[in-house]
Amino acid sequence: MPTRRTKRGASRTPLTGDVDVLVCGASFAGLALARELRGSGARVLVVDRYDIGERQTSACGIPTEWLRAMDLMGAHRQAFGRLVVHTPSRTARFELPWTFSTFDYPELCRLLWEQAEADFETATVNGRTGNTVHTDRGDLSAPVVVDALGWRRVLGRGYQPPDAPLSRGLEVHPWGAGDEMEIWIDRRYVPAGYGWSFPAQDEVRIGVGSFDPRFHVKDTTVLLAEDLERDAVRYQGNWIPHKLRDASEDGVFFVGDSAGHCLPLTAEGIRTAFYFGIACGRELRSVVEGRQSVAEALTRYGDFSASHEWKFRWMLRAQRLVPRVPPRALAGALRAMEARRFVAWSFGHYLAIAPPEFAGSGPRPRAAAPQPARAAA
Ligand SMILES: Cc1cc2nc3c(=O)[nH]c(=O)nc-3n(C[C@H](O)[C@H](O)[C@H](O)COP(=O)(O)OP(=O)(O)OC[C@H]3O[C@@H](n4cnc5c(N)ncnc54)[C@H](O)[C@@H]3O)c2cc1C
Repeated sequence: MPTRRTKRGASRTPLTGDVDVLVCGASFAGLALARELRGSGARVLVVDRYDIGERQTSACGIPTEWLRAMDLMGAHRQAFGRLVVHTPSRTARFELPWTFSTFDYPELCRLLWEQAEADFETATVNGRTGNTVHTDRGDLSAPVVVDALGWRRVLGRGYQPPDAPLSRGLEVHPWGAGDEMEIWIDRRYVPAGYGWSFPAQDEVRIGVGSFDPRFHVKDTTVLLAEDLERDAVRYQGNWIPHKLRDASEDGVFFVGDSAGHCLPLTAEGIRTAFYFGIACGRELRSVVEGRQSVAEALTRYGDFSASHEWKFRWMLRAQRLVPRVPPRALAGALRAMEARRFVAWSFGHYLAIAPPEFAGSGPRPRAAAPQPARAAA
């Protein structure tokens, strides 16, 4: 039984006030952004309905180099140099040009938080009026407001499933070990989407993701776990946006799933949440250091995100195409794609959408300096 660390009832005291930067959401996007503001002198407040790292939001698979680039290897669990893809008629093995890793979610969040200099409060965000954010504990105001709240995009125009460009994913986390990172493209599990098994040292994360939000993945997640002779225990699931949205809107910055930053074909959204969180954090850093206005940062960050639109559009096209390919033709295509040069080329391009070098290419976080914040309007 998971223990709830979030403050409840009487211990949920009123919360009001002004800060320089208000980051709503303390998962991958929000924490990566807060980390980027370290040493800027800004008063940064991060809020989330749960404590930091309390609720895992994914299977926690990421290119290993991203963990290394952000000094997060302490959360590393298992690395894979190969991706095994099962179709009903054939299994393909891709020898990857870079490794993929699973990590521990609470530990990763803890390490990210350790690298940030900010305050944290548990509060549920209900909406906003201008730059005042309404929470269940009171109103918070800031010249810079960030929505890193995930697919709901609470501070903007939200989506309502199932009539929205959303995928859905569900997984179970049985205890046990495994050697391979595997995926299944098989209509037995999902008509449009894929199943996965990601070992993470002492547990295996087994799930099914559907690109069609109307397809319920519970039964087939259990089926996949049964086929793998694992227990269907410790569930975790969510909606996953698969369409890029405006990253700045009506004076608010949107980062990660709230901006549709998850890659449509693979539903990989952690490194992109890091990537765009860092990009946004760098823009905000120059705001709080008085080098640009909030309006300029909104434009620059919005344009940066939008410059990736064509990559997301192509991945969305591929997402829609793959389920239409008959299984035998798909097996043939996978055979052709197993060629080492093709794997190196395609996976190299895929990584380049949000490359790990980006984490180190901006201004490095400085040591904390006790200077007053200068948030520009
Ligand atoms: C089953 C499943 C498996 C996945 N596996 C992978 C994977 O292996 N690798 C990968 O790269 N991607 C994976 N994804 C996608 C990935 O989880 C998301 O893209 C990623 O979590 C986005 O990060 P984020 O910080 O934008 O949002 P989230 O991680 O969703 O974080 C949003 C935060 O906001 C908080 N919040 C939400 N609403 C409120 C509110 N009203 N008030 C206060 N706080 C609130 C939440 O508590 C949470 O902490 C998976 C998704 C699912 C559903």
